[in-house]
Amino acid sequence: MIPYGRQDISQDDIDAVVRVLESDWLTQGPIVPAFEQAIASYCGARHGVAFSSATSGLHAACAVLGVGKGDIVWTAANTFVASANCALYCGATFDLVDVGLEDGNINVTDLESRLSKASSKGLLPKVVIPVHFAGEPCDMSAVYELSRTYGFKIIEDASHAIGAKYGEDQVGSCQYSDITIFSFHPVKVITSGEGGVATTNDSALAEKLRRFRSHGITRDPEFMHHASVGPWFYEQIELGYNYRMSDIHAALGSSQLRRLDEMISRRHELAISYDQAFVDLPVELPVRNNTGLSALHLYVIRLKLDEIKKTRLEVIKSLHSLGIGVNVHYIPLYYHPYYSGLDLRATEFPVAERRYRESVTLPLFPKMSETDQGKVIHALKEVLSA
Ligand SMILES: *Cc1c(COP(=O)(O)O)cnc(C)c1O
Repeated sequence: MIPYGRQDISQDDIDAVVRVLESDWLTQGPIVPAFEQAIASYCGARHGVAFSSATSGLHAACAVLGVGKGDIVWTAANTFVASANCALYCGATFDLVDVGLEDGNINVTDLESRLSKASSKGLLPKVVIPVHFAGEPCDMSAVYELSRTYGFKIIEDASHAIGAKYGEDQVGSCQYSDITIFSFHPVKVITSGEGGVATTNDSALAEKLRRFRSHGITRDPEFMHHASVGPWFYEQIELGYNYRMSDIHAALGSSQLRRLDEMISRRHELAISYDQAFVDLPVELPVRNNTGLSALHLYVIRLKLDEIKKTRLEVIKSLHSLGIGVNVHYIPLYYHPYYSGLDLRATEFPVAERRYRESVTLPLFPKMSETDQGKVIHALKEVLSA
């Protein structure tokens, strides 16, 4: 089966990991800070803070922005559960915003109308988490403008978007946000095995993120309640977690980062071949913003179901039987039983509903060969014409 996404591991990546295994530190050594610095400078942000995953990074980001009991966090209806669970971990609740039909990103018009209604009820969100769906950047300056009016903080869930550009700015520069979170899970654009990095331009937030990641412990005299009594001394000054990334993971991530731009170019080459092959098919092709750059984590087509004799399920089953590992991104969050108490109704999110009905994610990853891409193209043409 050709998977929808797959890591691309080089000999250099393997050598980098082996060097750590042979070194003095497997964790809390020099590689994590070097990786954090490399991500921050790649993005043009002042600080990078590594985490065990994007999920732990999102939890930390909500916590350091003060999300707690009684607060509400908003995110896109069409995302992975982690974009919303971070609010629940903090004892807060979440609510959703509908997405754009073409890009699957948070719909700014819908955001604005929900904000204006929430404002009159005194139920404004403390934090809004736009998700750069499939690696295509959200309209961040518009979200930022709304944050000035309605007074919320912004966390970018950039799990799909390392290497993407919003206009001239690298996603992660935090030009229009407080904190950006990247994921380095193997299915994402580059990988550290498991892992995530938060970027921010705010030194106080960076310091808090670091403490949250490591038990709430500090050795910094500026934050300690008592003077140090000896070289062993440290203080836990708040409740934190062990959300650290190991040096083994950071070595893989650092090595991958060197090939990031190359991998994104390859994703674009493959996407252009798909675009060209599918012009005459009854599908909507994914849009790509021509002022910025998509990281192209996913290539999501939407079926024109009224021009096709099959259902989406039949299309997916036929493709699977031909060895094409297509997938669907995402099940709208309100379908998950765990969130049923939040009383989020499908009718409030018509575009997320429609995208969910029509979407199919095709295989796209840098190591995909022309032959494999040919198979996907041939299979989709065959399935849609039958
Ligand atoms: C993958 C993903 C996450 C979680 O990333 P992990 O590193 O696996 O914790 C969060 N949000 C979105 C949108 C994702 O796709």
